[in-house]
Amino acid sequence: MGQILEIKCHNCSEIKHISVGGGMEFSITKIYHCPICEFLKTQEFYDYSNPFNAYYDENKPSNMQDLLNAKQMCPKCKLEKKDTVLNAIHENDIESLKCYQCKKKELKISIVGHWD
Ligand SMILES: [Zn+2]
Ligand SMILES: [Zn+2]
Repeated sequence: MGQILEIKCHNCSEIKHISVGGGMEFSITKIYHCPICEFLKTQEFYDYSNPFNAYYDENKPSNMQDLLNAKQMCPKCKLEKKDTVLNAIHENDIESLKCYQCKKKELKISIVGHWD
């Protein structure tokens, strides 16, 4: 179970949907934000050492913490040959960010659905 969030810019009407939450112990979704180009993305992480995971593998050591702490590079900046490390943010932080299209601070967030 998780939520689908709609991030809408009230200046340029750009809309982006992201899925957050999870609730399942073996999957964690993190939100990342680029401090340079304002790119936003979500990344899901799966813990294969958790017996509740359908792909559970008892021989696999848990590297969940390593995965969660691993640096995420911005794919947009990469196109311009810049290596920018994305910041992990909380969904509550989104409204204080600038729009990735028009760079205005007009983002509003709302819950538009649920998934499981
Ligand atoms: Zn905008
Ligand atoms: Zn970037």
